Order: sequence, then structure tokens, then C-alpha cells
Amino acid sequence: MNKKYDMIAIGAGSGGLSAVERAAEYGKKCLVVEVKTVGGTCVNVGCVPKKVMWFAANTATQINNAQGFGFEIDVKNFSWEKLKQGREKYIKNITSWYDGYLEDLGIDYIHGFGKLIDKNTVSVNGETYTAKHIVLSPGGEPAVPHIEGAQYGITSDGFFELEDLPKKVAVIGGGYIGVELAGVLNALGAEVHIFGRADTLLRGFDPIIQQALDKDYVAHGITIHHGSKIEKVTDHKTLITNKGEFSGFDEIIWAVGRNPMTQHLGLENAGVKCNQRGFIQTDKFQVTNIDNIFALGDATGRAPLTPVAIAAGRRLSDRLYNNMTDRHLDYNNIATVVFSHPPIGTIGLTENEAHDKFDQVKIYQSEFTPMADALLKHKTTTALKLVCVGEDEKVVGCHIIGHGADEMLQGFAVAIKMGATKKDFDDTVAIHPTSAEELVTMR
Ligand SMILES: Cc1cc2nc3c(=O)[nH]c(=O)nc-3n(C[C@H](O)[C@H](O)[C@H](O)COP(=O)(O)OP(=O)(O)OC[C@H]3O[C@@H](n4cnc5c(N)ncnc54)[C@H](O)[C@@H]3O)c2cc1C
Repeated sequence: MNKKYDMIAIGAGSGGLSAVERAAEYGKKCLVVEVKTVGGTCVNVGCVPKKVMWFAANTATQINNAQGFGFEIDVKNFSWEKLKQGREKYIKNITSWYDGYLEDLGIDYIHGFGKLIDKNTVSVNGETYTAKHIVLSPGGEPAVPHIEGAQYGITSDGFFELEDLPKKVAVIGGGYIGVELAGVLNALGAEVHIFGRADTLLRGFDPIIQQALDKDYVAHGITIHHGSKIEKVTDHKTLITNKGEFSGFDEIIWAVGRNPMTQHLGLENAGVKCNQRGFIQTDKFQVTNIDNIFALGDATGRAPLTPVAIAAGRRLSDRLYNNMTDRHLDYNNIATVVFSHPPIGTIGLTENEAHDKFDQVKIYQSEFTPMADALLKHKTTTALKLVCVGEDEKVVGCHIIGHGADEMLQGFAVAIKMGATKKDFDDTVAIHPTSAEELVTMR
């Protein structure tokens, strides 16, 4: 059999699904191929289950804080098992919904491993399928270091399989996934140690965020081992690092980055180029070096976030099938949130990046204890920074850590994307009493 399509997407995650969905809306015949579970990383082992765990962790924090507001609370039990069951049921509902959705749009779906045979042909389960346009959207998988005993650790995928709350955990990596998992486990009652190579958490973020998060995590009982290099793992419990041996862990979690799933994709059969780390290179229109093959999402190594993969996929189909000839994703000013405790919202340039790019940089910042914590024993920090440049103080960066930062940023992201200046912020009347009002009242 050799069935012909307008578009075939390899990988039914955020990027691949969005491209075929939009193409199908324009009446194109599409096929999407998925080797694991439809929905990809975000739905199955990423954003969605992570956010459920974050909500659970926030609930634990609220219960602990209730005393400050006069409540005497007696918590009888916390069932990790029940939480896991509820989370899995929620995700199953989402993935089952996709079946009907793809069918309604007339999109063919095949479960299997897709491999390029040539620039127009994909093989799956021994059959071949051809298309005018092929979209590579295979995403990524958690990296595990090549050191002795690495197999004793689990990854973020394994975290979602845990049957119990581990009592003592080593999280290796101080990037956003490490910081998020550490925050959840700590809030739910585990003893958490973060081992990071750098001398700060969240390398690449603005220092105001790094410092506030570090302070809050330590204040809430997380032990941070900065400048740590893991040399080997001797069993499920023990790490040997450049700073000595650390033992007694119930789980060791690798959160040391993600690798693109491009190794067995048959890129060489079609002549598609990738870089040394396996990320597929594209131009701003998502076109690879082969003109009818496109790549989207995490496999391209740019801003590995669900809405980015979705936006790139939709814009690609708009351009290919709806005459929107210049439609492409602008990768500048993409807002992102880290679901730490408290959460972080950030967009645009950090202070250092702005100094590298512009002569005239003005920083506005503020740090305080949020009113939500005023009556509590364990307080958190809220810190905000606006990075402004030029005569007119155009806002090119906004960095927030604190309660509500996750929901706060989206609206400010619109303003910044539109080119708002500090004066525009100042001319906006504050909403009181909130933490967000600081962003329009800073001097
Ligand atoms: C723990 C964690 C938390 C995250 N939290 C957030 C968050 O809060 N917000 C956010 O925006 N992003 C978050 N992300 C990132 C987000 O999940 C990814 O950016 C997004 O899923 C990328 O979409 P994608 O389409 O590129 O790849 P994916 O969603 O990974 O989809 C790729 C799919 O392709 C399949 N595949 C691979 N190779 C083949 C093949 N040869 N044949 C068939 N199928 C194949 C894979 O099985 C996979 O299902 C998180 C990620 C992780 C790991």
C-alpha cells in the first residue's frame, strides 16, 4: 500500500497535532504518526501531569498556612496513590478525546514508529505513505548522563510513575524541570536535595529570580548543593560527587536536560541536516534544508515549550495552505513560567542581556513579602524587575517571582510584545491590593 497525503506529521505531540489539525481545517488530507501516546510529552509526561502535581503541592502549602489565618486543621491523610489515580484518569480523558477529534477532522492516525524513506515517503509498521509536505515533530526525551550507575536514577518520566511519595530525594539539575519537581516533592513532605553544576539555580534567568528562588527554597527546607558534579551512583541510594558522598536517598532523579528524538528518524535517507546535538535546523518558516520537509517544536532546540510548538505548527499550515505567505513564528519575547514554589514568570531580556545589546539600560525592581504571607510563619518572597532600554524606556524584559506570577505574566506579555514603554506601564492605573500593581508603580 502507498497512500498519498498532503501532509504527514511524525510525532503526535503539541507541534505535529497542531500542524495537521490546521491543515485539515483547510481541507487537506493528513496523517499523523505516533509511537507512544497521542498528545506527546505535554499531555502525558510534561506540562499537564506536572501542573496537577503543582496544584497538589500548593494545596499542601495552603493547609500548612491555614493556621496563620486562624484555622486549626487536622489532616488525617495524604494519599499519593489517590492523587496519581486522579491525575491519570484526567490525562486518559484528554488522550481519549483526541481519537474522536482526529476522526472528526478526517485526520488519519497510525500508532507506530515513523521513519523517513526519502523526501516524500514515510514508513510505519512496514507500510509506506507519501506526502507533498512532511513535518518532523518527534520532540525530545529526558537525558541521562553517561556515568557509572546512572541507571539507578529515574527521570521526569519516572517521576510520574512513582507509586509513593519518596521520603528523601536527590534531584540532579537546577534547571526548570529540576526546580519544579523539587518544589512539588518538598511541599508534599519529602526531604529534597538539589545538586546543580552551576553556582545558581535556573542558569540563564535574571539574577533577581535566581536569588529569590534560592532564598525561598532554602528557607522552606530544600538543601541546595551548588557546584556539584555527579561522578557516579553506587546504588539506588548513594551519589558520589566532587564534594563527597551523599547517601540515604529513596529516589535519585535526573533532571539534566532533554535530547531530541531524531536519532532513528531516517533523516539521512532524505538528506535532512541536524546539528551536533541532533536538533533539526530550520529557517524562520520551519523549513529544513530540504524544501518540502519541516521541523517543529522541541526537536528544533528552540524555546522548548508547548505553546511554541503549537504556534509554529499552526503558522506553518496557515502559510502552506491558506496563502499567508509570510506567516511564521516570531521567537522573540516568548513568555514562560516556571511552576516552582512560588512560581516564576519571565519574558524578554535579562538585565545582563540588555546591557550586552543596548547602551542605555534602566532597571526598575522591587522585592517584598506579599500580603498573602503577612500573617504566616513561613513567608515567601515576591520580586519583580522591569528591564527598560533607550530614551523612551521601552520595556524589553519583565521578570517576576511570587504568588500569582504564573497568571500575572500573560497580560504583561501582550503589552511587551506590542512594544510598551515604562510610561505606558506608569499610565496604567494599578489594581489594589495586589502584587501585580508593583509593576505599574515602580520608580
Ligand atoms: C516534566 C516536563 C514539564 C513540562 N512543563 C511544561 C510547561 O509547564 N509548559 C510548557 O509550555 N512546556 C512544558 N514542557 C515542555 C513541553 O512538554 C514540550 O515543549 C512540548 O511537548 C513539545 O512539543 P513537541 O510536539 O515538540 O514534542 P512532544 O510533545 O514531545 O511530541 C513528540 C511526539 O513524537 C513522538 N515520536 C518521536 N519520534 C517518533 C517517531 N519516529 N515516530 C512516531 N512518533 C514519534 C513521541 O513519542 C512524542 O509523543 C514540559 C516538559 C517536561 C518534560
